Amino acid sequence: MFYSTNLNAELVSFSQALLKGQAPDKGLYMPMTIPIIPLEEIYAFAEKPYYQIAFEVTHRFLAGEIPDDDLMTIVKDAYDYEVPLEYICDRNYVMRLDQGPTASFKDFAARMMGRLMQYYLKKENRKLLILTATSGDTGSAVANAFYKLDNIDIVVLFPEGEVTARQRKQMTTLGKNVRVLALDAKFDDCQALVKEAFADSDLIHLPLSSANSINIGRLVPQIVYYFYAYARLHDRDHDEKAVFSVPSGNFGDMMGGVLAMKMGLPVKKFVIATNENDEFPTYLNSGIYEKIEPSRNCISSAMNVGHPSNLARLIALYGGMMDEKGTIHKDASMEEMRNELWSVSISDDQTRQTIADAYRQYELLLEPHGAVGWAGLLEYLKSIPENDSAGQLCVSLETAHPAKFPEEIEKILQIEPELPPSLEGIDHLSEHVSNLENSYEAFKNYLLETF
Ligand SMILES: *Cc1c(COP(=O)(O)O)cnc(C)c1O
Repeated sequence: MFYSTNLNAELVSFSQALLKGQAPDKGLYMPMTIPIIPLEEIYAFAEKPYYQIAFEVTHRFLAGEIPDDDLMTIVKDAYDYEVPLEYICDRNYVMRLDQGPTASFKDFAARMMGRLMQYYLKKENRKLLILTATSGDTGSAVANAFYKLDNIDIVVLFPEGEVTARQRKQMTTLGKNVRVLALDAKFDDCQALVKEAFADSDLIHLPLSSANSINIGRLVPQIVYYFYAYARLHDRDHDEKAVFSVPSGNFGDMMGGVLAMKMGLPVKKFVIATNENDEFPTYLNSGIYEKIEPSRNCISSAMNVGHPSNLARLIALYGGMMDEKGTIHKDASMEEMRNELWSVSISDDQTRQTIADAYRQYELLLEPHGAVGWAGLLEYLKSIPENDSAGQLCVSLETAHPAKFPEEIEKILQIEPELPPSLEGIDHLSEHVSNLENSYEAFKNYLLETF
């Protein structure tokens, strides 16, 4: 069962939490108990294909709610692409989570979430209307994952000036049940319109739900690749623990990792690397939390978050309580948190320098988000005694394909990143997109007229 981090809502099953998105008390759903995977089973993942590991990990949260055969069909279908673990130096690896259909790690969550929603909606003969605001990657991953699903309509709102040309095309070239609205506004404005729609009693007849990272259905699939990487890379002769470095914005990715650790994955430290939005590293050091409003614009645009929406979950996991506005009502255990997490803010200058150095030293091609992760890992290794850093297994996450952010890479490296097959030809496809005025009245009228 799943509880709300605001502690003022009924317990729900996984499928209820998935279809609701946010809890009625505006909290986020979290599992009451965290299932443990024995070490022997984790070791045995080493020989299993990714989808099989996805099955083994996720069925522990879904047991009794979906037959094994149906879950297996879903994970096989969702995870039909590679998850490369690229060796870099010492015992440091980069896990490339960028081989899915929209070339960002958000495919991992969106593809499984879409299929699970479809499964439960069909069973209950219901429909959903998903509203999603995006700064680029969520919109494209969710639109792609939900495209042509029978029981789901989706409306994506995006700020015209804040997404790259390719990110835009990944959303606007689909059509059918995917409706895309371009706004001359900021991401925060798009997000505010969606929030207002959820709270509007005039829209109560619409089966609204959300696909943002507040949805528990996005979190559970993001636990899997931490198990996968550890199982593939660990040295069985020594009971070793891994360090994972996660470039973080809304903290959904990192929460997947922390949950994996609580499920028994041997982790020494999570490095939580942010861009110049440094509210979390500051909090971890000082114990004082202050959001950054408005958030700072950095080249790792998907991480321009001044108040991570998953932070309430992290605080809950460490025994505290934070409400949806970011006010802490009960302190988390800072000692336990500092034991397991290490956090650092990486400036845009350092991000650019990291892209240049990684390419020159190791022919490692990183885009700005992955570069924040890699820079964070290097900072962490510098901060610990050399004896400990030598021989330490480290995995840094690359969360998008370099071809998704070609502008910055061309400027820094004077090379044009090669397109993955999923992005080929996309620049020339025609668009299905409407412009929307940045006003709630306009958005509401659009919803009432369209649905
Ligand atoms: C969304 C995104 C992130 C941040 O992930 P969170 O789960 O929000 O912390 C990092 N990199 C890329 C490329 C993204 O699209």
